[in-house]
Amino acid sequence: MFERYTEKARRVIFFARYEASHYGSSQIDTEHLFLGLLREASNILAWTPGLTADELRKRIDDRSLHLTPIPPNVDLPLSPGAQQVLKYAADNANELAHKYIGSEHIFLGILQVRDCFASQLLHEAGADETKIREQLATQVSETISPFERQANYRTIRGTAPAGPIEIHGIRRKTEHVRDMASMLRMYDWYWRREKWKPQDIVVSHKTGQVSFEVGLKDDAENFVFVSNGWKRDHCLVCRWELFEADDEHGIGYTNGRIWLCLECCERFILRDYFASSHSDIT
Ligand SMILES: [Zn+2]
Repeated sequence: MFERYTEKARRVIFFARYEASHYGSSQIDTEHLFLGLLREASNILAWTPGLTADELRKRIDDRSLHLTPIPPNVDLPLSPGAQQVLKYAADNANELAHKYIGSEHIFLGILQVRDCFASQLLHEAGADETKIREQLATQVSETISPFERQANYRTIRGTAPAGPIEIHGIRRKTEHVRDMASMLRMYDWYWRREKWKPQDIVVSHKTGQVSFEVGLKDDAENFVFVSNGWKRDHCLVCRWELFEADDEHGIGYTNGRIWLCLECCERFILRDYFASSHSDIT
């Protein structure tokens, strides 16, 4: 579904997902999309003159439930409101005859979903839908870097093979794999092939919440240190389980934070599977 998205807009979605998991939300909501915009497209602050970035962030933070963070490898769905935002974003790009969907279209989309907190906050901060629309109508869509143009070209033209993709012999949705792969490929991470090992964690006495910030063990009143307490991860693309083992579950690729299974990393990240399926694209 993100084929038409600019690189920046894709990162907005990526960070919205991150924000939702950080707050322990079971779905990506409109305010997470806005927090994603704040991280990746701070130019939108020109449209919210009434509140600073810190004030906007704090208002959302104050209103959010702070639940146990959800591991980043859990795929979160978009809330109905967030789906509406992305639908409006596409409509906005179409109406403005913009080929790509950028962060500016997502911003407008949030404004249009009137019964959500993020939209009310933006209106309160002075965002004016009519003015923004007029402004966007006179300029070309978000600047697209040569890298991005190429990436988009690949994504659009490098159509995936028909039907689902098999990973570890299990059929997966091609669209999901392609979206995850293109998101991961946006970052120039160094992926190291490594044996999976358990990690030390600290656990909060009171809430049972877990953190990798083992330095918190110094706060012994609140945290207990658990040596090798983190016993498994999942491949971010296909959710293949990684744990201490001598078979294919015991080895993967990592950038130090995220894990990928051998198959996903070697097929989709280290090589551009989706582009190389078309020999005319190099
Ligand atoms: Zn995988």
